Order: sequence, then structure tokens, then C-alpha cells
Amino acid sequence: MQNPRNAGRLLLDWYAASRRDLPWRRTKDPWRILVSEVMLQQTRVSVVIPYYERFLERYPAPAILAAAPETEFLALWSGLGYYARARNLQRASRAIAGLGEFPKTYDDIRKLPGVGDYTAAAIASICFAQPHAVLDGNVLRVLSRACADRGDIASSATRVRLKEQAQRMLDPRRPGDFNQAIMELGATICLPKNPQCLLCPLRDLCTGRAEGIQHELPVKLSKRDPIKLAVELYIVEKDGAVLLRHRGPTESRLAGFWELPESRDLPTAERQANLGSFRHTITRHDYEIDVYSALPVKAPKGFRWFPRTDLENLPLTTMSRKALALCVSP
Ligand code: SF4
Repeated sequence: MQNPRNAGRLLLDWYAASRRDLPWRRTKDPWRILVSEVMLQQTRVSVVIPYYERFLERYPAPAILAAAPETEFLALWSGLGYYARARNLQRASRAIAGLGEFPKTYDDIRKLPGVGDYTAAAIASICFAQPHAVLDGNVLRVLSRACADRGDIASSATRVRLKEQAQRMLDPRRPGDFNQAIMELGATICLPKNPQCLLCPLRDLCTGRAEGIQHELPVKLSKRDPIKLAVELYIVEKDGAVLLRHRGPTESRLAGFWELPESRDLPTAERQANLGSFRHTITRHDYEIDVYSALPVKAPKGFRWFPRTDLENLPLTTMSRKALALCVSP
């Protein structure tokens, strides 16, 4: 791409006129930006907004989350998925509380638990005006197209090259706006399947468009096939209470959460009506889930009965929430 600084200016003008009004764009409070960036990892904006607002209403400062019990903040996170993010956020909140204030430089922010290059660059640029370009999926897509870069975006060599390009485009006087502008362009205009080139502020500078190869970019070589799994879940109810299994601290995923039992967890339970089916994806695992009611059994070790009215405030797996919603919303 020719003239990267000019491209940066065009992006800033476009962003000033077209930006979406999102809750985390009304603040430069680094705690709020950190919460938004962590929630937005692998999760859509429309899904994140209500979680973001509820979470910050309960934990408006890092010291408050630092002192919160795990079951409480996991319940607020329940449904958002990727729960390691919530635990890392608490670890980060404890580190910040220990420092007495939010760290102010890229290097110090990067040292917080669970904070990688992307999040550190986002906070340093948005909250402290430091000239660090961000690189996320949206930015990689925009830059690979704008520069007609055919490198595999999973490779570190391509990422280094595109990061240097972003750094050349970044206006050091407005690094936070630049980073948000290029991410916004990827989220709303330079879309994965259908880039809206005629509406794009970079249309006259974009090499991918000039060469007519924008639909072939970015190149991703490392996509692996999903793993398909069939699961049978049981909803066992007695006197208005539901039988749930606790995922112990040694579980590799979702430790500390409660979930509906699978049929193999309750081999003596008598299966009744089929309540429906749905699909659920976790990273590479593609689950096909059938949900059945089953007659009450004695609760095995690690299981407990919960009144339905208590489920709202329980860290409950998303798969179980979806299954329970097939009969009555928890
Ligand atoms: S011109 Fe098209 S391909 Fe190029 S950056 Fe804009 S939307 Fe993406």
C-alpha cells in the first residue's frame, strides 16, 4: 500500500464520522477498557454489551473484583464462554490492587496476568496515548488486503510484517483513535466474506482491491477440521429442583462450574421424553446435543439439587443453560 500515513489520516476521518457508539468508547478508564477488551476476545460486540454493563456495575474498580468470590463473578460471566478470561481478569485485578494504581506504560500493562500484546497495546494507546499499534483478526484482515499480502496470517513472519505496516500508518498523536478506527473498519466494512470496498475510506489506496484479490485474502493455512461429538443431557427434576453436577478443580475446562448430567453420569436414571436438540461449539469441538427428561435418582457424589429459582445466580455452563431453556428458562 502506498502512503501509509495518508491511509491513517483517511481512516481517522472516516472513524470520526462513522464510529459506532459503544459503551467502552465513552471512557478512557483503563479498568473499563481492560474489561471490554477481555470480554471482546472471541465474542461479538452485541453479546458483550449487557455483560460488560452488568459486570462493571458490580465491579466498578479492580479492588472490588479482587475481593470477590469466584462463584459470584463466574455467575456474572456465565454464558459468555472462555471462562479462563474471567479468572485471569480477577488475577489482573489483584495485581492492579497490589500496585495501588493501574500501570501506565505498555511494558507494565503487558506484565498483568492474562494480558497479551494486543490488550496491552489497546489500553496503552486508548488510555495513555502511547503509539502502539494493535493487531487482532480484524486488523490482520484489513492490512493483508490493503497491502495485498499473501502470507499466512497465522505465521509470525506475516504478523511482524503487518504490525510494522500498522505502525507506519498509526498517527502518534492519536494512537487510540487510529487503533479503534482500523478495528472498526474490519468489523463493519472490510468484512470477512463481503468487503464493502465502495464504502471504504482506503478504497483508492488498497492494493488488494486494485489487484482484484481482496476476496482471496487473508490467507489462513492452519485451519484444522472440527471434532464432532454427540452428547445426551438429562434434566432430572424433583420438587422444583434440578440435579446438577459440579465440575471439580482438576477439570481441564470450566472448573468450578455446575452442569446438567450426561446420560453416562447417571447410568441408573430412567430416560423419559426427548425435550429437543441443539448444537454447541467450543473451540474445535462441535457438539450435537440431545436433551431428555429423566426420573429422579439419588444424587451421586459431586451432584446437588438446586431450586430452579437459584440457577440464575449459579455459574452454570452455557450448554446447560441452553438445554434448560428448551423447557423453562433458568
Ligand atoms: S478497499 Fe475493500 S478490501 Fe481494501 S481495505 Fe477497503 S474494504 Fe478492505
